[in-house]
Amino acid sequence: MDFELDERERHFRDELRSWLAANLPEAWQTSHPREPWTEASRKIGRAWQERLARGRFVAVDWPEAWGGRGASVGQRIVLQTELLRARAPRLLGHVGLDLVGPALLARGSEAQRRRFLERMRTGEELWCQGFSEPGAGSDLASLATRAVRRGDAWVVDGQKVWTSIAEVADWCFLLARTDPSAGKHAGISALLVDMRTPGITVRPLRQMSGEAEFNEVFFADVHVPAESLLGAEGDGWKIAMDILGHERGPMWTFLFHGHLRQEIHALLDLAQARGVGADAAVRQRLAALYVDVEVLRLLGCRSSTALARGESPGPRSSLEKLFGSELAQRLRSSAGELLGPDLLLHPDDPRAPWRGRFTRSYLHSRADTIMGGTSEIQRTVIARQLLKL
Ligand SMILES: Cc1cc2nc3c(=O)[nH]c(=O)nc-3n(C[C@H](O)[C@H](O)[C@H](O)COP(=O)(O)OP(=O)(O)OC[C@H]3O[C@@H](n4cnc5c(N)ncnc54)[C@H](O)[C@@H]3O)c2cc1C
Repeated sequence: MDFELDERERHFRDELRSWLAANLPEAWQTSHPREPWTEASRKIGRAWQERLARGRFVAVDWPEAWGGRGASVGQRIVLQTELLRARAPRLLGHVGLDLVGPALLARGSEAQRRRFLERMRTGEELWCQGFSEPGAGSDLASLATRAVRRGDAWVVDGQKVWTSIAEVADWCFLLARTDPSAGKHAGISALLVDMRTPGITVRPLRQMSGEAEFNEVFFADVHVPAESLLGAEGDGWKIAMDILGHERGPMWTFLFHGHLRQEIHALLDLAQARGVGADAAVRQRLAALYVDVEVLRLLGCRSSTALARGESPGPRSSLEKLFGSELAQRLRSSAGELLGPDLLLHPDDPRAPWRGRFTRSYLHSRADTIMGGTSEIQRTVIARQLLKL
């Protein structure tokens, strides 16, 4: 495993650093990479994506013909690291860029790629991911939303839940059951659905962090043009599995590591400032957390090396997801203990330490072991596929 940047990565980093110095306004810089979506932060998120797209610094892994750079795994990691270092704002279009775009590149028709990819890249059109349902989360293949072919349309009925950014999305990447008589997995298809189609209702769900980043989405007699099918009828499960593979793996690990690295350093500063660094129990706890954050980085190095060699991360990505998300909860609980009652200060309160970021991270950390596959599901994958139990 090589921990140093190669020539191509160094060149890319230098180009990016000078571009960021010239193009990222101070007023857009953020103290928290997962800042909640407000009207103001959405506006910045959109404008930032448009600017990055002009510099060809989004969707860098896409082929050049579609606005990307055909970037290597190493360059993508450099991009993530540098954006975090520069305190760049969060991207509103990440579902399109990281999940739907790669699916269109792999399985879309030429007409679909022409229609969607550029607007996805620039953030002109935003996408949401309509997979989970009230009765189908971990067991996604149990989904019950139906799409029935009538003439030149698919007619969709059902409900999705936990659909991030559906309240602003222009399009939904929807999984629906098109053949109930086929097997559980074989009867599912993927549809590209215009969120303005009559019959779609979006209802926001408020989380304990105060944000409403999730939604319930209801489909009642929604007519979707036949050409909205992605791939062939019944291909939905395979497409979804490819997409979910993009949700984990080294890109996730490095992004997550970047957040936790900032947090452990802030926590060390806090311990010093509060004069508790000399307490043996606190010292032991912080040192152990620091080591675990470094271990997460090394796990990411291992899987990115494998990916660069053309190997699939496979079940090892479950190991990284499990370790990283549970570490995040341990780290944020420790932050909570050090902060004491200050943890209860509203993140926007000027007295809140580290501009409220500890509190936001603490509240969000419950979601980390659920989204992208729960800890129990990751342990099952590890036990079965890595440990052969
Ligand atoms: C922040 C966030 C954003 C999200 N965004 C989206 C989105 O944009 N689009 C989308 O479609 N979904 C989204 N989700 C939903 C996410 O994919 C699901 O929450 C996740 O798959 C778990 O499903 P569930 O919530 O239905 O829980 P369930 O599957 O009902 O699980 C409930 C509990 O039972 C356990 N469990 C379930 N099955 C097993 C088993 N076989 N063995 C052992 N334990 C088991 C689980 O681990 C969990 O503890 C998001 C979730 C979060 C937290």
